Amino acid sequence: MLTHLLGFPRIGSQRELKRSLELYWAGSINQEELQATAEVLKTNHWKIIADAGIDLIPIGDNALYDHILDTTTMLGLIPPRFSNEVGLDRYFSMARGNAEKGLSAMEMTKWFDTNYHFIVPEFSSDLKIELNYDQLLEDVLQAKALGYQVKPVLVGPITYLSLGKEIGGFDRWKLLPQLITAYQVVIKTLSEHCDWIQIDEPILVTDLKSEVQAKFATVYQSLKAVSGDTKLILTTYFESVGENLETTLDLPCDAFHFDLVRGKDQLNELLEKFPKDKIISLGLIDGRNIWKTDLDEAQEIINQAVDKLGSSQVLIGSSCSLLHCPVDLKSEQQLDSPIYNWLSFSVQKCREVALLRLAISGKDVDQELKEHAESISDKANHPLTFNQAVRNRVSKVTESDLEREHRFELRKPKQLSSLNLPNLPTTTIGSFPQTPSIRKVRLDYKLNRISKAVYETQLKEVIAENVKIQEELELDVLVHGEPERNDMVEYFGQQLKGFCFTSFGWVQSYGSRCVKPPIIYGDVSRPNAMTVDWIKYAASLTEKPMKGMLTGPVTILCWSFLRNDLTRQEVCQQIALAIRDEVQDLEMAGIKVIQVDEAAFREGMPLQKSKQESYLNWAVDSFRLTVSGVEDCTQIHTHMCYSNFNAVARWIAKMDADVISIEASRSDMKLLESFKTFPYPNDIGPGVYDIHSPRVPSTAEQLALLHKALEVITPDKLWVNPDCGLKTRKWPETLESLKNMVAAAKQLRNELN
Ligand code: GLN
Ligand code: ZN
Repeated sequence: MLTHLLGFPRIGSQRELKRSLELYWAGSINQEELQATAEVLKTNHWKIIADAGIDLIPIGDNALYDHILDTTTMLGLIPPRFSNEVGLDRYFSMARGNAEKGLSAMEMTKWFDTNYHFIVPEFSSDLKIELNYDQLLEDVLQAKALGYQVKPVLVGPITYLSLGKEIGGFDRWKLLPQLITAYQVVIKTLSEHCDWIQIDEPILVTDLKSEVQAKFATVYQSLKAVSGDTKLILTTYFESVGENLETTLDLPCDAFHFDLVRGKDQLNELLEKFPKDKIISLGLIDGRNIWKTDLDEAQEIINQAVDKLGSSQVLIGSSCSLLHCPVDLKSEQQLDSPIYNWLSFSVQKCREVALLRLAISGKDVDQELKEHAESISDKANHPLTFNQAVRNRVSKVTESDLEREHRFELRKPKQLSSLNLPNLPTTTIGSFPQTPSIRKVRLDYKLNRISKAVYETQLKEVIAENVKIQEELELDVLVHGEPERNDMVEYFGQQLKGFCFTSFGWVQSYGSRCVKPPIIYGDVSRPNAMTVDWIKYAASLTEKPMKGMLTGPVTILCWSFLRNDLTRQEVCQQIALAIRDEVQDLEMAGIKVIQVDEAAFREGMPLQKSKQESYLNWAVDSFRLTVSGVEDCTQIHTHMCYSNFNAVARWIAKMDADVISIEASRSDMKLLESFKTFPYPNDIGPGVYDIHSPRVPSTAEQLALLHKALEVITPDKLWVNPDCGLKTRKWPETLESLKNMVAAAKQLRNELN
């Protein structure tokens, strides 16, 4: 029985790679210095994995920016606009664009349902594969020379093609024959040096069209034909393979990997149907979460597989690459001890993989297993995780808690008369530019360099300034600007019970960008109001409506590490009740407009259609539970940061927010197409100003987008706002853009009169 890992985080336990990348981009270090950091990280990671007791070391998973971009580079499928560039500079231009040369970056999108983003390949008719896999081969030889048993990792050709985008009507599958030939060359060479090759085809956990399903057999016959005695491990992860089980198991690969954490539901069918002459790789250690594994439960699964196939045909591994996990728990000396003992980051997970094999093969690891089991049961029974009042409250939620008093048509006139808004009201999404001085105030307070009183006074000055600016701009619904918030989830997590925070629990989001998700370990409740004082203060400075600003339960859920003893739905309900209290407190404090952001609503969706409806149901219900306690005349807003609205438009309508603001300007209002088949029933503000770039959109440009919107939205339902919050922008461009936005709204009001 062998052990392996699908991949290891690249960024380094102290985010060394991030630092070096940013220094390199800033011109402060040269290529050799960047490569030196990468080299140290790479060899350290091999050693960590091997020292933990893992047999097969993943090679080639250490991208400088992104592994899909690495694949694009390896295949030489370089979009023509980068053809004058070479080497590392070309690599980073593709990822980040090159303003000097006028090269726009390739698009970036989410890697399945994770918070990792990959660089989207572009497929067009003028591409021809030019293979260059020197780096991978070098790494393989280097790792072998160091004495490691190597397992190079490739992104499978079908996943690769499926994830790209077609340019100019080109059919991506036309590239497949060339791609097969290229992969054959790579695999043939690698097979001369390695006993194992891992090929990732996570696309197999999604609903595939039958034409795509049908391509797998040809591709893998061709690849197996050149691999000789080397074993090809086909990996799937993030979900069960569902409908694609037979397609998968029919492939002529030597081993198949399954995620038995997120795709636990496939276990029985899998064991039943698994071919007797193949190797099964059991993904038992969660690569997407931070808890210690219940090793007893995992051993049971291994035993079942061994009974069926014999121990030489079982591999033990992580559920997916550990890319989505922080690096080393050892860095977390600040965490409270009971919680610390429940956790396992990547380094610790390597040991868990190895420990399982040692346990199964009867090695003397009893003490280690016993300690492990103790922390599992400590967590299961720990009072910190449990709050009877919260459980009672959740169990008493009824349908009527999810309903506003009256339906939208009856609420709207009441809101109109209480808010006194013009037609086409203007507003913003919440945050205003976070200047260095604002960050400094927050940092000084965090480090106890200034008192609470000083901190509050200074931020109140910022808020007052924000209000003044908005009045001068003549915006209609104002915001306080969120200067007290560093992050829209962290800010709430820090004030809610049941959350904790790490010091170094960084996970790569894209390139050098990392996020540090909060950990939800216990029942969630809200001991005190979280935003009321700030909003009340802001409201006291103006006659205009001040919008209270909250993050919604689904978004808090999606951007945190979740406890694994409750369902996502249960955790979400608890968060919803906590935020509901905040909504009600804001209303009681006289706030008449309250926005509950659900930026992550869409990304929380399960990968397979058959599982989506149930998610959408509880996600919508959680939002409704959050906002439905208010009077008819209180106006509830929500906000979403993506325009890919069509698939979920009906569900978003069911959320029944009085107003939704949504990204639209970047796609030239494409989102509005869905309105032709599905007229959105409540008020809506499709963003008319792209906040992702410093460019100032003119009045005419924003007016044109509003005209487009009016083709499908009646003027009484249309709001005027930017695409998203302004915290990453600078003031000069923000002022100009908002001025133009208000001017566009006014001009349109005149036209309509
Ligand atoms: N209210 C938040 C802000 O303006 C919303 C951010 C988001 O949607 N990502 O920053
Ligand atoms: Zn947004």
